[in-house]
Amino acid sequence: MPIATVNPATGETLRTFQPLDADAVEERLARAHRAFQEYRTTGFDERAELLRRAADLLERDRDEIARTITIEMGKPLGAARAEAAKCAKAMRWYADHAEELLADERPSAADIKDSGASTAYVRYRPLGPVLAVMPWNFPLWQVVRFAAPALMAGNVGLLKHASNVPQTALYLEELMRRAGYREGCFQTLLVGSRAVDAILRDPRIAAATLTGSEGAGRSVAAVAGDEIKKTVLELGGSDPFVVMPSADVARAAQTAVTARTQNNGQSCIAAKRFIVHTDVYDAFTEAFVAAMARLRVGDPLDEATDIGPLATEQGRADLEELVDDARERGATVLCGGGRPRAEELAAGWYYEPTVLAGVTPGMRIHREEAFGPVAALYRAADLDEALRIANDSPFGLSSNVWTEDEAERERFVAELAAGGVYVNGMTASHPAMPFGGVKRSGYGRELAGHGIREFCNATTVWISA
Ligand code: NAP
Repeated sequence: MPIATVNPATGETLRTFQPLDADAVEERLARAHRAFQEYRTTGFDERAELLRRAADLLERDRDEIARTITIEMGKPLGAARAEAAKCAKAMRWYADHAEELLADERPSAADIKDSGASTAYVRYRPLGPVLAVMPWNFPLWQVVRFAAPALMAGNVGLLKHASNVPQTALYLEELMRRAGYREGCFQTLLVGSRAVDAILRDPRIAAATLTGSEGAGRSVAAVAGDEIKKTVLELGGSDPFVVMPSADVARAAQTAVTARTQNNGQSCIAAKRFIVHTDVYDAFTEAFVAAMARLRVGDPLDEATDIGPLATEQGRADLEELVDDARERGATVLCGGGRPRAEELAAGWYYEPTVLAGVTPGMRIHREEAFGPVAALYRAADLDEALRIANDSPFGLSSNVWTEDEAERERFVAELAAGGVYVNGMTASHPAMPFGGVKRSGYGRELAGHGIREFCNATTVWISA
């Protein structure tokens, strides 16, 4: 994939970039290694001050960087602004909380005595330069949620961003430099995915985090496994959204629209499979389909637009294949199902908000991730069937359930195979709550204390009695 800004709303290539050659990569690896030797010795106060400064600058730059994001990957401008604001909040959260999250941990006095120590504790120390391989769908947020905790823990970062968001990637490096981070603490590597193998194998890289597709995760995990290096993988999702009879169906249907179509439907934690109890199926479907059909598809720079184009032409082709496959195997298209007809949208990679009913296990969309505004509807006879459909997926990122019944809620919390269970609301990440999945959605966690400790050496210190 060439490293370039190609506007998905027009298909126009606006800027191209030469990938870094081997010497330039070597220079940056050496810089990261040098920077780590010094940065690891800094205290939490200094790190927090740098990160707060980055947050202030990001907020100041919000309108400008939002425009760049929208032009590079097509999300509506308002959503790009909101993403920048969310990043500033997460940076401040880690600046405020890292010291307490990484404070020394002491076993109980009885256990210390039993171990034969006068004292013992766990100290969280940084690992070193962390390589982050990141996707384009939240081109600031995905990076910040790795970088803020990694930097607060005393690590340094190297970002290999998706090839279609190079300007956002370069902005992030520049932001950290302006915030005052010393040279080498946070660098962007403009390289293609084929360069990742050698970089990850370099002994100066201590660990890696990847957010992206299953295929990319598999290949990074294989190399990291070969090199015995720690990884965190945040991969795809096909989150269930279960609606039970006791739910507020109108609110569930309204939330379902946002949960499916946020970020033009290209979110790992978007609800993708809507599993509705038969008693409320018709009411939910009517409200959901009507609201999906009302969404405005158009230029993402226009503030009135709900749904912009998909980020890449290939992404749209993949989505079209999934819908065509479902249709051929008997699914009913309740709305959408193709490209919008408006002439002014013909050059961009748009796709209509789509609802498919009658989805069955033989259809690809049942098992694969629909990365765009396409919802798959299922009718469930009871809670057991709802759970069975929800868990019948290779993915296990998050899940949404709508019920006012406490016993039902407990069953879902106990039995949904996912990294999150959101009740009567949609999945959304928050810096204080761990984020990540099970099954093919990956492993490890980002955010909260779990996220900052992923790239730390939990060191046991034992002092003889
Ligand atoms: P992608 O194609 O996997 O790309 C993600 C990143 O991985 C890019 O930087 C890409 O570089 C790189 N990459 C691709 N193949 C690679 C390989 N074989 N070895 C090393 N690096 C490789 O994914 P995408 O299409 O950009 O993003 C969409 C996917 O990300 C969806 O599946 C979505 O669910 C997932 N996602 C997950 C989360 C989560 O937190 N779980 C969040 C957001 C997105 P190039 O751009 O140079 O190819």
